[in-house]
Amino acid sequence: MAIVLNLNRVTRSHEVVMAPGAGFCHGVEAAVEKTLHIAKNKKNGHIFLDGELVHNREVGDQLRAQGVQLLEEHSEICLEDTIIIRAHGISLRRRFYLERLGCEIVDCTCPLVGRIAKIIEAHSGYPIILLGDRDHAEIEGLCGYSKNIRVCANLAEFAQLIDAVQKKDRMGENISEDKCINFDEVSTWMLVCQSTLDMDFLEAAKDLCDQKNFPIKIFDTICGATKQRQLGLRTLENCDAVIVVGGKHSANTKRLYEKIKQKIRAVFWIENAKNLAEINLNPYRKIGITAGASTPQNILQEIYGEISKK
Ligand code: SF4
Repeated sequence: MAIVLNLNRVTRSHEVVMAPGAGFCHGVEAAVEKTLHIAKNKKNGHIFLDGELVHNREVGDQLRAQGVQLLEEHSEICLEDTIIIRAHGISLRRRFYLERLGCEIVDCTCPLVGRIAKIIEAHSGYPIILLGDRDHAEIEGLCGYSKNIRVCANLAEFAQLIDAVQKKDRMGENISEDKCINFDEVSTWMLVCQSTLDMDFLEAAKDLCDQKNFPIKIFDTICGATKQRQLGLRTLENCDAVIVVGGKHSANTKRLYEKIKQKIRAVFWIENAKNLAEINLNPYRKIGITAGASTPQNILQEIYGEISKK
């Protein structure tokens, strides 16, 4: 007679592995610290964030508790107020608009995003391909640094664009006549990437350019923290289950989840230690943990501690 083992009832101690680079990156951490410092010391006026500083509920609550508000269209701004530009950065047009409001502007743009903006500005006379999530604030901001940018969100879009360019098909989906580049005069394209891009996407794009003999100068602008986090996933590949920690709106957390899901069947996406109550880890012995750039270390340590003592 076959014995049916109810895995839900199996309990055993866990080995817990934390992926290198998991959690807050230095750009986001610096922005949060700076904002909290300003909130603590501000005597007059309000503090507004030009967009969510970080996709993390706890950090959002902490900032709100300190009186930090989100800048809305209807927000009334006074000269004593302070507006904080988040780590993803903003476009030149948006910066100009904020500066005209007359209050203090504190720029928390990560220097590594600033570097991408500088590369785009310096090559604004060339056609530029920007690999990344079209709707992400970083991409929206970077697109404001040149009129000659085409965003490609995936390899299929990238392949379609370079095919269209090679055929000089100006009616291709990503090539519009209102752009000011003369395609007959410009033979070299530039490529830059969102700071949190999937490294495999960039590698596949490079390979495609080689195969198609497409003349392009590639700037690998994926930041070191993102690379460390993506490479850190490799240390989790022999785990029985993996927990990915991060806000449900965090693009880089989603990317980590999707990448590890290709290797491990049991992957759980949670936002904080309380969510551990909703998942059953008993069937798994070796548990890996990773986290997006918007997850602070204290949340990770709490989760690590909770699982270790089970
Ligand atoms: S992910 Fe990289 S570029 Fe983006 S804020 Fe963090 S360190 Fe800066």
